[in-house]
Amino acid sequence: MIEQESSNHQLLTEMVNRFLAWPLPQSVCADLCATDSNYRFPRSGTNLLNVYEATSMLEHATAPTLAEIERLTREDELHWKTRRTLLSERGNLRAELDYFKSEASGQVESLDRENTRLRAALERAEAKLLRAGYLCCGECGAWLTTAMIGWHRCNEAAPPAETKA
Ligand SMILES: [Zn+2]
Repeated sequence: MIEQESSNHQLLTEMVNRFLAWPLPQSVCADLCATDSNYRFPRSGTNLLNVYEATSMLEHATAPTLAEIERLTREDELHWKTRRTLLSERGNLRAELDYFKSEASGQVESLDRENTRLRAALERAEAKLLRAGYLCCGECGAWLTTAMIGWHRCNEAAPPAETKA
């Protein structure tokens, strides 16, 4: 990733600059071999700095990098926290949805049962009326006694006046 590389390069440059600008502590005093480029034995960092000086130098040089790492870690943690929160909210919503679904299907089932029960009751009542000699008007569905059949007009509750007299 180019962006990552350039940001790494930027951090490295910053560390190098901070190292080069690091104020040498009073205690720094290189071994003489460190100043002799033709020294016959291998030379190392300890010929330049002791462990405390090296620690101080690295702390100084890497401070911005470590701060950046810390910032990214915090950002990452925040990201994961947000993700966890979102996931748990999604879980809650799913559970709620499932609850409402089962609730609704329970209600539909109970309405179906009630509907079946009422239909059966209606059929029983109609059978009873038929047995008792009532007839059902094919147009309006009103139940009529044999006496009413002669004068029945749909949507009229009482017999016409002339019949009454
Ligand atoms: Zn009728």
